[in-house]
Amino acid sequence: MILSKNIAILGSTGSIGNSTLEVVRNNPMFFKVVCLTANRNVNDLARQVNEFKPNYVYIDSPELISDLKLKIHDTETKIIESKKDLCEILASPEIESVVSAMSGSSGLFLTNHALVNNKQVLLANKESMVMAGPIFKKFKHNIIPVDSEHNSVFQLIDRSVDFVSNIVLTASGGPFRELPISEFKNITKDMALKHPNWSMGEKITIDSATMMNKCLEIIEAFYLFDFEPEDIDVLIHPESIIHSIINFLDGSSICQFSEPNMQIPISYALAYPQRISSGRPSYDLAAKSLTFQKPDLKKFPSITFAYNALKNSANHCLILNAANEIAVDNFLQQKISFNNIFNIISDSFDLPDNEILDNIDDTVHADELYRAKINEIINKYYL
Ligand code: NDP
Ligand code: MG
Repeated sequence: MILSKNIAILGSTGSIGNSTLEVVRNNPMFFKVVCLTANRNVNDLARQVNEFKPNYVYIDSPELISDLKLKIHDTETKIIESKKDLCEILASPEIESVVSAMSGSSGLFLTNHALVNNKQVLLANKESMVMAGPIFKKFKHNIIPVDSEHNSVFQLIDRSVDFVSNIVLTASGGPFRELPISEFKNITKDMALKHPNWSMGEKITIDSATMMNKCLEIIEAFYLFDFEPEDIDVLIHPESIIHSIINFLDGSSICQFSEPNMQIPISYALAYPQRISSGRPSYDLAAKSLTFQKPDLKKFPSITFAYNALKNSANHCLILNAANEIAVDNFLQQKISFNNIFNIISDSFDLPDNEILDNIDDTVHADELYRAKINEIINKYYL
């Protein structure tokens, strides 16, 4: 049986963070939560500390530390007061596995830090992989994907891609799969935040509505599994039961399925290479009909963006991620329309390549330069 594993959860108050803690709650004998982190949600973070009694807790907003102190005064949990101290603790032997569940580019620095310090990383934060693919690739042996499609591919082929002809990532198609393209101009923030199958954080919910989530996932799969871009396909599957399909050279295919609940891939990643209860039942295939269709690339240029970025360079993956993140932020603030998310990403593609991105400092620096340029484009043409 699994020995107890010491874990840190970066972004414990989010959707993935909470699902991870639910799996831990169901399997207290297998996991010790050593460190929890959040950005601003001091109430949920304190509640988690009071329940899971980690050795350490970190909140990325210094002004909230005194509030956190008050809320957890009954525990022996130490509050980490600086990012430098957090880095030391993440690198220490006290922690074996790090769940990377922060949202967007905020996850890049600490995910990289965990990897370079030889920690096993349970990777939900796909944006960091898109930004630093060439660097993270070197640590692939220590990454277990949590993203449901990639976790599914990982379950099906583990680390060997022998005899595979191509892989298929499924996509729900989001809330606007059936909406005519002529209606896209009327899409509001509230409409886009209603995902039909998954309950997730705001940024990834908008990414699902634009299908930029699948764009990021094609790039994530490229770096995780080493397939050529043309061997990574997307299939619309509105019920989100089958998470990936592997087609072998001999014409045989296998797939992995479960109900759409992140506790299942998270429990697999946490217990790998063993299995534990995720707290969810097996899926009953007789429950409903499963349907499939090709993606509509006219309505959703996002999928084409992924192949274009991969054909160009790692810089283009960085640009695409930054342009999407900034555009989504503007859309959530109701400053730009839904369609302009696509237009901003498309315009940003014309930015020139910078230096070769083979270390994290250059990647962060290039990301900052690109973001400044993308903001200029948005201010000039979209606000
Ligand atoms: P949420 O927005 O629900 O949660 C994000 C977490 O990160 C919160 O704990 C938040 O803290 C923390 N955080 C955000 N910004 C910062 C920051 N600057 N510094 C420190 N902590 C920060 O996101 P999700 O859980 O939905 O997604 C997390 C990641 O997992 C994303 O990359 C997403 O693409 C990926 N993913 C998510 C899936 C899902 O089903 N949700 C499925 C597959 C992948 P606070 O609460 O204090 O703001
Ligand atoms: Mg996914």
